[in-house]
Amino acid sequence: MRSGSAIPLSAVTGQVWPAVPQAAGQTMLAAQFQLERSQWWPAETLARRQLEQLRSLTAFALKQVPHYRELIAQHLPEVARDPNSLTWESFAQWPILNKADLRDRGTAMLAAALPQDHGGMSWNFTSGSTGVPVRCALTMVAHFFRSALALRSYIWHDLDFSLKYADIRPGIGAGRAPGWGASTNAAFATGPSASLPTTTDLNAQLDWLLAEAPGYLHSTPSNLRALVLRSRETGRIPRGLDAVVSYAESLPVDLRQLLREVWNTRLIDIYSCTETGTIALQCPRHDHYHVQSELVIAEVLRDDGSSCATGEVGRLVLTDLCNFGMPLIRYEIGDYAEAGATCDCGRQLPVLKRIMGRRRNMAVDPDGRVFWPAFPSDAWYQIAPVRQAQLVQHTPASIEVRYVMERDLSEAEQAQIAAIQGSEMRYPFEFRFSRVSAIARSPGEKFEEFISLCLPEAP
Ligand SMILES: [Zn+2]
Repeated sequence: MRSGSAIPLSAVTGQVWPAVPQAAGQTMLAAQFQLERSQWWPAETLARRQLEQLRSLTAFALKQVPHYRELIAQHLPEVARDPNSLTWESFAQWPILNKADLRDRGTAMLAAALPQDHGGMSWNFTSGSTGVPVRCALTMVAHFFRSALALRSYIWHDLDFSLKYADIRPGIGAGRAPGWGASTNAAFATGPSASLPTTTDLNAQLDWLLAEAPGYLHSTPSNLRALVLRSRETGRIPRGLDAVVSYAESLPVDLRQLLREVWNTRLIDIYSCTETGTIALQCPRHDHYHVQSELVIAEVLRDDGSSCATGEVGRLVLTDLCNFGMPLIRYEIGDYAEAGATCDCGRQLPVLKRIMGRRRNMAVDPDGRVFWPAFPSDAWYQIAPVRQAQLVQHTPASIEVRYVMERDLSEAEQAQIAAIQGSEMRYPFEFRFSRVSAIARSPGEKFEEFISLCLPEAP
């Protein structure tokens, strides 16, 4: 039962199709009806609707959130007097909030009072690779739209609701459920789901995957990559995976190809963060991403604050349009992305061509030039059976290659890898190799292929 032909659950006896869903299902389908239409709107229509919602959010934040009341009175006094005077030009002057501000401002970021119909608040925590712990309050409305976007992604990629959905991710227990979860359960009947934490040993994960035989597997890119490599090594191949869904980290360049070759399956990537939820979904026709503009404004900015042109990489600044509990307006998430051209699929939702990771994932050369290093790991793996690797730049001229493998790399292999990696860099760095038993990271933290410990301060 592909999502395209799935019939919603009916709450009326004997009335199977067209269905008359129960209330929660009606609400979810009403959201999908609107999202189905708005994705095709011309950019101007989308921008006009966004601005209406942004003004509504601003009016609320000025009344209820101390941080914005002080900030906007100081920087945009006209908007502070009349939120309806907010334009895209004045929005570009709205001061940017970063992770440390968010942490330091504490309760000044929270709405003093919330309209009852936004539901109660719950809390999410994130530390992320920048190491700044952040606490986020989320309303029921924000939760609802996060679920709605997950369902939109299933519909875009035409998932088969009758199959089993398996989830291996940080911070969950091993378990089972009769349905897929909040995004589908309200409106559709689905197959069952099963979950496992990423802390599970890789061999045990593979045993579990073969035993469960799900149609879908949801996990982080680094975990998926380790799993598919172990599967290839041992020849134990899961069958019947219609798709693998990844989230939360930048994609290793070779993951799509590995999944196609070893598991004969496709990869659907979702770009999201704890603070604002889903930011962009992979296009149904391409590997790039569409910003979910109905719920989030995603700006890709140059260092001087102006907007990046197509093909340029800039820092991502996000505005969550629906979470009134702790409004995030022009929040710098810390990731970089490449602005893409309008997509030929017909959706006018802006395109992010690539998501690049954090500033500390950039490299610097001895002349102080900062750049995004390529990591041709697919070429590496043809030289030696490296399981996982991470490049750490300790000084502007040298890079440590940490790798996980059954044995040491030979000198010839090291030289080959250094040559391939070196050809992708802008400077003849000295590479030093260290074999490690594991590349450690704390739970919930993203895996990073490249970390520089000697970058100059951001401009
Ligand atoms: Zn598209």
